[in-house]
Amino acid sequence: MNALHLYLQNLDHNYRYIRKHLQPSTQCIGVVKAAAYGSHSIAFAKRLVELGIDSLAVAYTEEGVQLRESGILTPIMVFYPQKDTLQSLLHADLEPCLYSKELMETFESLLNQNGIQNYPIHIKYNTGLHRVGFALEEINWVLDKIVAPCFQLKTVYSHLAASEEKRPSSQCDLQIQRFQHIREQHSHSNKNLPKFHLLNSSGVFNYPELQFDAVRCGIALHGFANRPEWDQQLKPIAELETHISQIHEVHEGESVGYDQGWKASKNSRIACLPLGHADGIGRHYGNQRSSVQIHGNQAPVVGNVCMDMLMVDVTEIQCKEGDRVLLFGKDYTASDFASQGGTISYEILTAIGPRIKRILHP
Ligand SMILES: *Cc1c(COP(=O)(O)O)cnc(C)c1O
Repeated sequence: MNALHLYLQNLDHNYRYIRKHLQPSTQCIGVVKAAAYGSHSIAFAKRLVELGIDSLAVAYTEEGVQLRESGILTPIMVFYPQKDTLQSLLHADLEPCLYSKELMETFESLLNQNGIQNYPIHIKYNTGLHRVGFALEEINWVLDKIVAPCFQLKTVYSHLAASEEKRPSSQCDLQIQRFQHIREQHSHSNKNLPKFHLLNSSGVFNYPELQFDAVRCGIALHGFANRPEWDQQLKPIAELETHISQIHEVHEGESVGYDQGWKASKNSRIACLPLGHADGIGRHYGNQRSSVQIHGNQAPVVGNVCMDMLMVDVTEIQCKEGDRVLLFGKDYTASDFASQGGTISYEILTAIGPRIKRILHP
């Protein structure tokens, strides 16, 4: 059977490691969007709450509603609330990150219609990533708007486009400068001074002097920080396990997989593994670009990955049907596997499909 093992003790380690490197007054926002990076959103969020996380963040309203329904009472930010979900956001007591005039005015009307005052909100600025966020030219508009009695401005933030890039980074420096400007503007004209935050996981490692009042950590909680020397300080949580379904003797000249993706240059043994595209293993892992671990040996993926299966060459490996296979884990990590497929830990972790059972190890 396939399993995504989740070692929650490693989450404890990662959280404490990050915490140790924060100023005592800096809060930690635990980012648990996308099913907590493909792991198990409720178990993961609950563990963070036990560890003392200050608040949680998700991408979309529905993700926050799910956490509320599981009984989590911690403040939950919604990074990318969509207009048509603001009503359910309100019902679930979630905190929207407002990033445009349109969104802010819509939310204001909704609060006023419901006679709600002092509702916690967050303001997101675009300082150069050009994803969502208010433009710098809109600061004055925002400053005028946030005095409305329906709002209680909790935090103001932005997001770096290259927080892992070697310093000095001209992209980051420009964004930092702009963020400092935003911070000054907001500090001058506000009675209730909001909190400020800029850093994601890599930022915590790369810019320890820019922690401000909070940091937003996602991938680091899972054991990765986008540079080998930082990754080494953390422990990966997830291990993806499968088993050999069948082994074929393939004769020299015969092919394996769709479109004859691989041809045997000698008599070979080919093992079939019961996972494929539907489980998050994309085409780019096929045709010998990646390998899996069988009893400590690397078995290359041969031919094209299929929807439900993939094939590996085990000619040189002592193994039999039913034997355990690891795609990634503690030694050979999700980040290592992902880079073979030309991608990053974030993608492989969040791609692991719903057919694969999550097994929690407390
Ligand atoms: C996803 C996200 C994060 C977390 O980033 P990591 O690199 O996983 O730490 C932080 N901030 C925002 C706005 C995000 O969307």
